[in-house]
Amino acid sequence: MGADKTLPKTKWDVIVVGGGHAGCEAAAASARLGADTLLVTHKLETIGEMSCNPAIGGLGKGHLVREIDALDGVMGRVIDQAGIQFRMLNRSKGPAVQGPRSQADRKLYREAMQAELAGQANLTLHAAAVEDLILDPNGRLTGIVLGDGTTLETGAVVLTTGTFLRGMIHCGQERIPAGRVGDAPALGLSKTLERAGFALGRLKTGTPPRLDGNTIDWSGLDRQDADPVPEPFSMLTDKITVPQIRCHITYTNDATHTAIRDNLHLSAMYGGMIEGIGPRYCPSIEDKVVKFADKPRHQIFLEPEGLDDSTVYPNGISNSLPASVQAAFLKTIPGLETAEILRPGYAIEYDHVDPRELHPTLETRRVPGLYLAGQINGTTGYEEAAAQGLMAGLNAARNVGGNPEPIILDRADAYIGVMIDDLTTRGADEPYRMFTSRAEYRLRLRADNADQRLTPLGQQIGCLSPERERAWDRKHTTLSAARELMQDLRATPQELGRHDIAVRADGKIRSAAEVLALPDMTLERIAAIWPQLSQIDRAIAPQIEIDARYAAYLQRQDSDIRAYRRDEALHLPEDLDFATVGGLSNEMVQRLSRARPRTLGQAARLPGVTPAAVVALMRHVKRGDTKAA
Ligand code: FAD
Repeated sequence: MGADKTLPKTKWDVIVVGGGHAGCEAAAASARLGADTLLVTHKLETIGEMSCNPAIGGLGKGHLVREIDALDGVMGRVIDQAGIQFRMLNRSKGPAVQGPRSQADRKLYREAMQAELAGQANLTLHAAAVEDLILDPNGRLTGIVLGDGTTLETGAVVLTTGTFLRGMIHCGQERIPAGRVGDAPALGLSKTLERAGFALGRLKTGTPPRLDGNTIDWSGLDRQDADPVPEPFSMLTDKITVPQIRCHITYTNDATHTAIRDNLHLSAMYGGMIEGIGPRYCPSIEDKVVKFADKPRHQIFLEPEGLDDSTVYPNGISNSLPASVQAAFLKTIPGLETAEILRPGYAIEYDHVDPRELHPTLETRRVPGLYLAGQINGTTGYEEAAAQGLMAGLNAARNVGGNPEPIILDRADAYIGVMIDDLTTRGADEPYRMFTSRAEYRLRLRADNADQRLTPLGQQIGCLSPERERAWDRKHTTLSAARELMQDLRATPQELGRHDIAVRADGKIRSAAEVLALPDMTLERIAAIWPQLSQIDRAIAPQIEIDARYAAYLQRQDSDIRAYRRDEALHLPEDLDFATVGGLSNEMVQRLSRARPRTLGQAARLPGVTPAAVVALMRHVKRGDTKAA
């Protein structure tokens, strides 16, 4: 446990490379499963660093954090110690699309993450650059080489190098090789991956300038407050005790757009300096001005980066313009007329690996023992990275522990399953980020029930702390008792009528759960009929209300899920020669051979694969020409 300057030994069960969001989660998960784990990263003091926006969660992303927490991952607990503005997004909409989000105090986040890892049993932290991977003659990974030539032996490596692989910063016409500002890029590993035959692509992302909050004129700007009662991310956090702050909102205008448009030729992105593809849903201000030219203004959230830090993150104006142009366009924005730039915005271009190179365990198909997680797989965002890190860490530890059963979540289990299936099936030709719209079964995959969906699995595989086991057992018992009560309590239409609840006079005796499903009904209201209901623990009351509201829809969705899982259970062998499958056109053979789907369901989700091809594959599998699991 803890950080080591000189490593006590040269052999580890699992080595995680990179101390970003994927790496922290991977290392903690592997260690929780009992694997002797080493985390090697450039600098110990940047473990848990937020490279860009100081915030965790949001729509879809908040779901991921809750799922990570349900498997006892660290991100939820850490943001609960560092969040300075908790807000439940989409509160006015249904629970399925609500997303917990919190702005973070960068320093508190980093410190809490570092403390979390330092306290993790079976985990050693080491500062070094990893330059190369060692493979045995069969192509299996056996170790790594550090910058000083030290070699370390291991059963599995999880690579989580983020934006560092051949990273190149662009600020106007200026180009600086870097993993992010102030950090050197990783060059050796890019070459290693290329040499091993991996398909590498080039992506880009950007960050806005950082401003000195003391030089912003806050008067007259719209305000945005935290929720009155902040809702923690982690099931283990009772209450948020970090002070909550207010953010402000301002807007670009015609003058801003003119200043940007007039200088587009100087932008790295628009001046043709960058070939990588950027995140569609997090566009730069140049992109917004060009692609949404009809919009008179664009919103900018002014987010303080910490409680004792006057740095402000102007969310919405990431760009790759020269620093002088950034200063000029800021002067046109209300409140920012005299704002001083502490650090200009920039774009970064980096290598990523085509995630179709991966099994759903996140182990590479090409090099057994090598797992990839995070931005290296073409995703963007801390939460997406952390979720992959968690799964890669768990699978790497199971693999070296000799457990043949991999841990794979499917699209009906979790957003994590949706993301990994999307990545490994379709690849990432642009940076991938999570949205609720990516999930087919989102009524089931809610942020509020992540623990009910996943914590029992955590218990089964043994990745939960005793504290979480106890908390979950308590919650599970209380929930089960409340659900039973909701079924046991019943009333006739006449009895309901006496309480001003109008239902059809059909003589049907309705359960409390059915009555709660009626429009505008609350537990409090129906407690007038059944006073026992006021005994239900307030912490789980919202859960009981959501259960009732969604029951009918969930039943319908369950039959879709059964059909989906039937197709997922039809396994296609790794070495299936698609050319031998009768009835497939040459085009289908090519598409399927390139993607190598593992299941019939995955084949059906491949872009361009026709229903007729899926039927042909199914016949082939069912005839027993190949193994059906
Ligand atoms: P990182 O957090 O980048 O961590 C990588 C870690 O690996 C680092 O600790 C690094 O030191 C270490 N490392 C790398 N190579 C080696 C090596 N060879 N040896 C040892 N250690 C190594 N996300 C968004 O959602 N929205 C945005 O707007 C956004 N903008 C961004 C702008 C910029 C400029 C950058 C840099 C990132 C941005 N991101 C954004 C992405 C976000 O930062 C990442 O998605 C997230 O940090 C990825 O986590 P990760 O763990 O994969 O990698």
